Amino acid sequence: MPHDLPKAYDPAIIEDHWAEYWVREKLFAQPTPAADAAANGEAYTILLPPPNVTGRLHMGHMLNQTEMDILVRWRRMSGRRALWLPGTDHAGIATQMMVERQLTAEGSSRQQLGREAFIARVWEWKRHYGGAILDQMKRLGASVDWQREYFTMDENLSVAVREAFVRLHEQNLIYRGAYIVNWCPRCQTAISDLEVFHEEQKGHLWEIRYPVLGKDGKDSGEFLSVATTRPETMLGDVAVAIHPEDERYLRLHDKKLRLPLMNREIPIILDEWVSRDFGTGAVKVTPAHDPNDFALAERHHLPSINIMDDTGHINAEGGPYAGLDRYVARKKIVQDLEERKLLAGIKDHVNSIGHCDRCKTVVEPRLSTQWFVKIQPLADKAKAAVREKHIRFTPEMYEKTYFEWMENIHDWCISRQLWWGHRIPAWHCAECRKITVTRVDPTACAHCGAKKITQETDVLDTWFSSGLLPVSVFGWPNFGKNNIAGAPGPSHLGTGESSENRADFNAFYPTSLLVTGFDILFFWVARMIMFGCWFAGDVPMPDGSKRTLADSVPFREVYIHALVRDANREKMSKTKGNVLDPIEIVKQYGTDAVRFTLASMASPGTDIAFNIARTEGYRAFANKIWNAARFLFMNVDRAAEIGIVVDPEALGKMPEADADAPLEVRWIVAELLSTAAKVNQSLENYRFDDAANTIYQFFWGSFCDWYLEIVKLRLDFSETADKAKTKAALTTLVQVFETALRLLSPFMPFITEEVWHAVYDGNPPAKSIALTRYPQITQDYNVDYRVGDAHSKMETLQRLVAEVRALRKDIGIDEKLVVPIVLDLTHFANTEDLSLLKGEGLTQQNSDASDDSVGLKQVFESNQDIIRRLARVSDLNFSSIPLTGPNKRSSIDFDLQIIYELTVNVPAERERLTKDIAKYEKNLISAERQLSNEGFLAKAPASVVEGLKKQEAETRLLLEKARAALDNLNKGK
Ligand SMILES: [Zn+2]
Ligand SMILES: [Zn+2]
Repeated sequence: MPHDLPKAYDPAIIEDHWAEYWVREKLFAQPTPAADAAANGEAYTILLPPPNVTGRLHMGHMLNQTEMDILVRWRRMSGRRALWLPGTDHAGIATQMMVERQLTAEGSSRQQLGREAFIARVWEWKRHYGGAILDQMKRLGASVDWQREYFTMDENLSVAVREAFVRLHEQNLIYRGAYIVNWCPRCQTAISDLEVFHEEQKGHLWEIRYPVLGKDGKDSGEFLSVATTRPETMLGDVAVAIHPEDERYLRLHDKKLRLPLMNREIPIILDEWVSRDFGTGAVKVTPAHDPNDFALAERHHLPSINIMDDTGHINAEGGPYAGLDRYVARKKIVQDLEERKLLAGIKDHVNSIGHCDRCKTVVEPRLSTQWFVKIQPLADKAKAAVREKHIRFTPEMYEKTYFEWMENIHDWCISRQLWWGHRIPAWHCAECRKITVTRVDPTACAHCGAKKITQETDVLDTWFSSGLLPVSVFGWPNFGKNNIAGAPGPSHLGTGESSENRADFNAFYPTSLLVTGFDILFFWVARMIMFGCWFAGDVPMPDGSKRTLADSVPFREVYIHALVRDANREKMSKTKGNVLDPIEIVKQYGTDAVRFTLASMASPGTDIAFNIARTEGYRAFANKIWNAARFLFMNVDRAAEIGIVVDPEALGKMPEADADAPLEVRWIVAELLSTAAKVNQSLENYRFDDAANTIYQFFWGSFCDWYLEIVKLRLDFSETADKAKTKAALTTLVQVFETALRLLSPFMPFITEEVWHAVYDGNPPAKSIALTRYPQITQDYNVDYRVGDAHSKMETLQRLVAEVRALRKDIGIDEKLVVPIVLDLTHFANTEDLSLLKGEGLTQQNSDASDDSVGLKQVFESNQDIIRRLARVSDLNFSSIPLTGPNKRSSIDFDLQIIYELTVNVPAERERLTKDIAKYEKNLISAERQLSNEGFLAKAPASVVEGLKKQEAETRLLLEKARAALDNLNKGK
């Protein structure tokens, strides 16, 4: 990489190049450590929350991955054995839906294909289109170990899933039972409570009259009215319940009813659960289609009648309505009831209706046989792990959310009626009806030996496999024979069984950190904690001792990242049309700028309002660095022409400054040190925003705006130059720049990589800046001694330069003109408050300016060249008496005057001011007219009106100033 960077910074070119290089060179691979792994540094492990194999990168991913990449790059550069492990999730429902949609388009269906062919088809889809999101990650430069990429249906991970299922079954923690589940008639599977979203919908409350039967079993002529929002479910009614103390119905105790339309006799039952205030106070009991009714029926030993099939159509139990879709049946039933005069009333009613999160279909509570994990023992361990602080949440409030959920946890329904996924390893026997669950596919029933066995058709909930990832990606359970204490050796499973797996587990489990969104806190985070504590607890420690709960947890820390909203703080949504595609923004501004935008706003618990204007600003920041690099290389090359060469050995470490080094050297080194300290501290606390902003201030403000300008004075390449001094200045410049690049690298990996290679002119000491050391302040580096009071002195100089610049602007001095200034320090001489001269936290051991204004005068005098250059000053004089006359300004430690004769061409100036006044008046009238136009105000967006008001105020101010100036001009005449 030569010194001559292209003139223009073009992120697209450099980013494509380095992204490809990082992957090709396997730069971030973290192979299985050797036995004496401790020598390579402590591990720092993060699992990438596996995106769905069907997924595409969105802003949430971009934020989450930026945060992870910053942390991993920073830890890696800080000497940790960093591993960021990527993979994708097979995403049962989402992927199956995707392929089913393809089949529908082809006029086929999965049923037509059959299970085996369908699964083959999904694999084929996966080979062609799956994991596109990981390719996006590669382009974005995520520093993951691509050698370790996994897919949750990989064979070794499937072995772990099977082992977990079988082991839980052996421990009597898996059972099968009839249960009311949320059934999606579209996806034709049970879905968990978490996969159902509720929406308020306008519906009706129908009041149906159920005939009361007399003692003779015939209609008594009396009716009991029940209210329902789903009249079709009456086909499955087995009773009507009333409150035992409901005085309206006391006479109906022990009576029976005739179920309308079905002509079935059903009892009236008494239960205190019934609310007397809802509807008529009498509720129909449909155990197969309502969870409360199911519980009620259990208490009263009533049967369940399931009246609906998998597709949401009425089945044979629905008599004359069999075959009808649930909503068609509803209509017909209401009609029939009306005809029979059994409909007492219809009321409007707003209902909270559950929908399938995937396909938006209204879910049907429905009785079905499912597989469950008895969750309590796992939950107890998982709660203890957090209570005992083995896992720490950031922001802390999520710990409370976690406990709330874990306290109310229900058994986990783990079966799904899908084809795509890990098929449950259970076989049903046609002879004895018992179930065989084994690690190896059986050929006969384990109970009666019959050969007529068939495998369970259900697959496991996708979260069952992803919940196991922290243990399974590091080789569990394939550790070889007898490697798992107290566990039936799974060695016969045969895949990947090796001591290498065990070394991986020893080295990387528990992982260090999980970064994820709060929306999967329960789906995934809680389940990983439950499974991790449960299964890893059986794996002995490397030294053979028993693993404690502290070492069984899947991760030591959980960082819950915030939401990315649009610039107006609105949640991004497709319906609102305000979704930002990170890839599009990256194309426009470069990955570095987008990453920096996110980082500069990311802090625990604070949502991010993503504003493109900021990204534009950070692209300008990258450009600024680029130009600084070009300036630097130009000087390095010029220096080389006269034999001045920066010693390569001087690079790659923290620059130092001797006590007698020039002020700007001691100052920039002090700035760099405190920047590094702040950035390390901020990252330690997940304050990405503080870290990013601190570097930004340093690079743009201290380095580019001040230091580069001052250093131009020192880069003397003339015949008469003091070569040693020029070389020293150049060395510090390159050193500081190179260190700052390393500091910035985790945030802007691409531009820093490109420029860093250029700094080394083709001979970099490492393959990548990402493999160098992160700037840290070691304890033996005595900041105070080296840099002394450089910070406070420089601050005073900067204040003087800023004041002169501002005053020049106010007076209207031409930018090219150099002018003399006078400073009065006398009336500051007696001040006892020396803190004005002291920087924050920096002592003045080496200060030669610690003593009132004499010290200040010395600072200004000895740095005259800086003041002259930066403020365009010709002469710097000190006055011993208070300043009189025009062009003055006061600061906290000096008074300042610019010596400048204003010679004005009065007629020309008058003409200019008169023209300006006319222009301002015209603009003002137009603005006022618009702002008093009601029609305009009603239609215009608030931002336009605001802008107009601001413009009006500004114009008014300019007008006043111009009028005053004209007044003065006329008076002075
Ligand atoms: Zn669905
Ligand atoms: Zn059997």
